[in-house]
Amino acid sequence: ARKYVVKKYFEGVPKRDDFEIVEYELPQIKNEEILVKTEWVSVDPYQRAYNRRFPVPYDQFGFQVGIVEDTRNPRFPVGTRVVTHKGWCDYSIVNPNENTVMAKGAYKLPDLKGLSPSLGLSITSMTGATAYFGFLEICQPKAGETVAITGAAGAVGSLVGQIAKIKGCKVIGFAGSDEKVQWLQNTLGFDKAYNYKTVNVHETLKVAAPNGIDCYFDNVGGEISSIIISHMNNFGRVSVCGSISAYNDDVTQLPRVPLLQFDIVSKQLKIQGFLIHFWLDRWHEAFADLTKWLLEGKLQMKEHTTEGFDKIYDAFVGMLAGENTGKAIVKI
Ligand code: NDP
Repeated sequence: ARKYVVKKYFEGVPKRDDFEIVEYELPQIKNEEILVKTEWVSVDPYQRAYNRRFPVPYDQFGFQVGIVEDTRNPRFPVGTRVVTHKGWCDYSIVNPNENTVMAKGAYKLPDLKGLSPSLGLSITSMTGATAYFGFLEICQPKAGETVAITGAAGAVGSLVGQIAKIKGCKVIGFAGSDEKVQWLQNTLGFDKAYNYKTVNVHETLKVAAPNGIDCYFDNVGGEISSIIISHMNNFGRVSVCGSISAYNDDVTQLPRVPLLQFDIVSKQLKIQGFLIHFWLDRWHEAFADLTKWLLEGKLQMKEHTTEGFDKIYDAFVGMLAGENTGKAIVKI
């Protein structure tokens, strides 16, 4: 079998030789275990952000969708499609009952009625749970409210916008290219979308949200977030999901955001960060609603698919650079 091992800590943008593809002999499966052949793997920003949390070398973690090829677990017969968190490898051995801090050992892919099983990496995985709980629980949106989203054309952001529309909100998205902006407005039904690289965000919000912003779903952090927060209404809610604008930086060297505190106090804002793996026991609730909405045609998930085990690194840095619209995945 083959797997990606991270052998060096990343400095700035991860480099190809920070990784090594290691070939190794798979052991026999033991009682309760399953042998999974990987079909798709997920590339995600937290694989960059969490890099220094583990001693190197470590096996690159991450979600995958695969098919059970051998089993000693009666709940998972051969041919079962599963979602696991075994990372960038072509085969893995999993005990479905053994959860890690970040994920369940393995769970069966819910019935997607003939849609691609790769959606198990977005709709019914971390991405879906993040959008669902991060938005609904933390922002507590009400119909008619105005919602701003950064990273809006990515996997999480595009779902949050669609959930917000389902809940009757007005949605304003920021993304990094004109094509993404067109897609958000024309295909996903965002009320307004803007290319944050070319517009003046402050001036844009004066026009797009003349009555202010009630909920902000923050995927990127940094200056744009301070500007958006300065446009929030009294009792606004901010869900701090990610800060990808700084994942390749040494944060100790970045300027601290100025003057946010006055807005927070004077408008009585609620700003809350979250880590979705603390909600693992409730992920199935998100999957049920998201799958239902998907099958009803109320939301969609665009996939940005790269092909080939050897191309996972390229897909990863491509995603960090904004090449993806929707969920970045790799077909093995
Ligand atoms: P995306 O599909 O959104 O892919 C990443 C996107 O980030 C790129 O496509 C790019 O889009 C954007 N980006 C890259 N660099 C910058 C930058 N400097 N400034 C602004 N945008 C940038 O990834 P996900 O949907 O998987 O993740 C979105 C966010 O959610 C991340 O911050 C991630 O860490 C976070 N997250 C948090 C979780 C939690 O538990 N709190 C769980 C899962 C995800 P563009 O072209 O628009 O720049």
